[in-house]
Amino acid sequence: MRPFKHIQASTIEEAAALAAHEDVMVIAGGTDLLGTLKDECLPYYPNYIVDLKTIPGLASIEEQGDEIVIGALAKLQDIADSELVRTHAQALAEACSRAASPTIRQMGTLGGNICQMHRCWYFRCPDNRFVCARKGGKECYAYKGDNRYHSILGIEGGCLAASSHDTAPALAALGATIVTTAREIPAEEFFAANGLRSNILENGELVKKVRVPKTANSRFEKFALRKSIDFPLVNCAVAEDAAHQVHIVLGACYPSPKRMTEAEEAVKGGITEASAQAAGDAAVSKVMVLSKNEYKVEIARTLVKRTLLRLINE
Ligand SMILES: Cc1cc2nc3c(=O)[nH]c(=O)nc-3n(C[C@H](O)[C@H](O)[C@H](O)COP(=O)(O)OP(=O)(O)OC[C@H]3O[C@@H](n4cnc5c(N)ncnc54)[C@H](O)[C@@H]3O)c2cc1C
Repeated sequence: MRPFKHIQASTIEEAAALAAHEDVMVIAGGTDLLGTLKDECLPYYPNYIVDLKTIPGLASIEEQGDEIVIGALAKLQDIADSELVRTHAQALAEACSRAASPTIRQMGTLGGNICQMHRCWYFRCPDNRFVCARKGGKECYAYKGDNRYHSILGIEGGCLAASSHDTAPALAALGATIVTTAREIPAEEFFAANGLRSNILENGELVKKVRVPKTANSRFEKFALRKSIDFPLVNCAVAEDAAHQVHIVLGACYPSPKRMTEAEEAVKGGITEASAQAAGDAAVSKVMVLSKNEYKVEIARTLVKRTLLRLINE
């Protein structure tokens, strides 16, 4: 690890102003950032790291009217354990409880989870060996290379790396809003590919909190190779909004979590075994599989059906 100067921020506004500088990065739990720095997989190395953990009041989980407001520094484990979240945003509690491992959940924050960089072995290759499309290069190496974990729903911003954050589909399905130092962004729009980032944050823009509408009925499912600790091969969140419309979002199938509107159409008349099956079929009706990832299609189909059936059977 190369040396850097460590600055302890006192307010999020101070941290955002510092983060606008080119040679500065921010750190929350550090579970993602420190690995990328150790491996030197990015095209640059920061001279300064601004620590958000010293900012007071950013780790709360509070009920505010019809919403749950979660600070960017709230730990994944605290969200998973929160009675408030478990009762009113079950999909998010389930997503946090399935992310990474117990130790990472004790350090990793919600802000860090939604801002973590994509998991792709070309993008994250040590010593920045592949200047891939996400880094501004001409090529996505997964297209011709080893793409077993990559997108099955097409390309975004020239990149085929699949989104790997477990909280993302849950927040999108629940209709959450990401509150940054500059604006409010619907979760469904937040996670678009944007250069090195896995979201649309601008330079010097930081996540302050996440507002999640209280939702009576929502679920999250994940399929990973190892159950104890592993990124999702596919994950899925479903949530029934106040107008009883079911939102279905697939993760790890595309560079950002993807709302499955055709699958939602299939359950408009109600969720049954047959309509949940039809929703699963609709979700994978337009796949663009790569040379090594066709196996993910059946997993996505099954996960959509399984998550929907949990909405009516539990
Ligand atoms: C072995 C391993 C397994 C994992 N498995 C999973 C998994 O199964 N599912 C899953 O979802 N994740 C998984 N992760 C990722 C893990 O959940 C994230 O590393 C963690 O949530 C990041 O939170 P953090 O607070 O540690 O972020 P940090 O590492 O501190 O930061 C991550 C990134 O977000 C930026 N950032 C942090 N906070 C903010 C903010 N408030 N505003 C703007 N930018 C910010 C940082 O600059 C950095 O680029 C895994 C990680 C590891 C190492």
